[in-house]
Amino acid sequence: MSPEDRARLRTALREVEPWLTAADVGPQAVDAGPCDRCGDLPRLLPTCGPGPWAGICRDCARRLGPEGWCEGHAAEGRAARDWAEDLPDHWDVAVTLWWVATGELRSVEPRMLRRVASLPRAVRDLLDQG
Ligand SMILES: [Zn+2]
Ligand SMILES: [Zn+2]
Repeated sequence: MSPEDRARLRTALREVEPWLTAADVGPQAVDAGPCDRCGDLPRLLPTCGPGPWAGICRDCARRLGPEGWCEGHAAEGRAARDWAEDLPDHWDVAVTLWWVATGELRSVEPRMLRRVASLPRAVRDLLDQG
């Protein structure tokens, strides 16, 4: 994907998934890649380090609850978990697409895209070009 197309993809994603633009949580707050705890879903939330995980997915944040954050960051942890609960179920696809748009990942698996019934036209067109 060309730098121009990646810029277009970022614009399209910002419009349909405005939560991707958050700075302290979400794909811009963690390194691109799978959750440090389960290795399955993408990283979504940074943790402050009581566990050995730098970035965790929504499912792991649910499972860890307050234990994912130290006492000093309990409020931030709760705010991050609340934020994650409000995301659409295809958050993992959106996060992965965001990393493609920033150039941190090369591509997204077709299997993943098929889970989103109504990927916006602007996004779909850019991806179809390879
Ligand atoms: Zn996880
Ligand atoms: Zn902390």
